[in-house]
Amino acid sequence: MERTETIPYEPAPETVARATWLRGQLLSWFRSSGRSFPWRDPGRRPYEIAVAEILLQKTTAAGVARAYSGFIKRYPSWASLALARLEDLESELRPLGLWRQRALVLRQLAQSIEERGGDVPCSRAELERLRGIGPYTASAILAIVYGRTEALLDVNMARLLDRFFGPIGSSGKERSRSLHQLASLLVKGGHCLQINWSALDFGALVCKARRPRCQECQLKAECWYARTQITPTSDAPSG
Ligand code: SF4
Repeated sequence: MERTETIPYEPAPETVARATWLRGQLLSWFRSSGRSFPWRDPGRRPYEIAVAEILLQKTTAAGVARAYSGFIKRYPSWASLALARLEDLESELRPLGLWRQRALVLRQLAQSIEERGGDVPCSRAELERLRGIGPYTASAILAIVYGRTEALLDVNMARLLDRFFGPIGSSGKERSRSLHQLASLLVKGGHCLQINWSALDFGALVCKARRPRCQECQLKAECWYARTQITPTSDAPSG
């Protein structure tokens, strides 16, 4: 999701309290119900997690999971990826529905990093100057490689925040800025990757785009959407 200019933000105490509550709920849900993917295994190197996050932007987690181990085995480092033949990279990515463009992006990123002696840029501005690196990937790399507190605001997290907090912003730009601010509140306080992954999984499995599972959702007592949409006899309509 496009990142808009950050403005000084003083969230209302009620918003902070709700974000804190949501964060606790998501972390506890993730411990019992979060999805297990190879790039989330303990001990994965930052390179391995970053590659997964880049692939995940353009295809499904299930698809990446199928091809991931083979890909990492064949290209175990930025250096090997930088030297990859484009045709070989393409044939690795094609089963995921990813084509030449993604192969190019991955290789160019690896080459840029290798040109810096294997040094991954540590600032958002430098990262976003690299071809193929947008705001989401920059946030993912900063969080994964440097342990920064960065929100990975994808469509799943945005939908969850939208529904939980209620209508956000009157224009597209204002909405995007408010979503980033709420997402930042969510990841503050440690366990950055876990909270990002929990919001992503919760959006994919519970707060789904169509037919969110409100009746069985542990957030429903505090959720704006559930409070306004659930009726005693029916599930919430798809959103
Ligand atoms: S109650 Fe419904 S809309 Fe609210 S977070 Fe849960 S699934 Fe999403």
